[in-house]
Amino acid sequence: MKLRYFSTALAALSLTFTSGALATESQMDDAKQRTLVILKPDAMEQKLAGVILSRFEAEGFSLVGAKITLLDEPILRQHYAHLVSKPFFGSIVSYMTESPVFVAVLEGDGAIARAREMIGPTDPAIAPKGTIRGDFGKDKTRNVIHASEDDVAAKIEISRFFEDGELTTAHE
Ligand code: ADP
Repeated sequence: MKLRYFSTALAALSLTFTSGALATESQMDDAKQRTLVILKPDAMEQKLAGVILSRFEAEGFSLVGAKITLLDEPILRQHYAHLVSKPFFGSIVSYMTESPVFVAVLEGDGAIARAREMIGPTDPAIAPKGTIRGDFGKDKTRNVIHASEDDVAAKIEISRFFEDGELTTAHE
């Protein structure tokens, strides 16, 4: 009797877990997208994580994955592969490895383009006030935040930093 109760409870638990807690992107509704953001070392050093995440939450984004980690050159060579041959690549590596970063997956309608709009252009000097880089960035290198450029980049970048099982689904 006790054993039957236990296995029923276990089955219910596993059903809740697979249907409720974890979701792959293919289970999301069509308008929803996921994008990867990195709060760079200067954001963390200035204790801006809460302020920046609040901006995304206020715009309706849901946080579905997050970790704090210290990046290293090999992962930056992948993440910034398009910049490896640039003369300033060394300064990107020094900056991005100077202290831990906050890596997050944000989910929402049209999340990829909307997040790029909210962060503003690469150079804070030309980023409008009200954008994250315009408000908090210092220069072309120390510009506070990364957000995936497009759909292809978002998928690659999310899988670079997170296993499927580390991402939850948004609770509306
Ligand atoms: P974004 O981050 O806006 O997508 P890029 O992919 O071109 O822009 O650049 C990646 C990062 O490399 C930038 O966010 C910035 O930190 C750094 N970076 C880009 N261009 C320069 C530059 N000309 N000089 C110094 N650092 C740069």
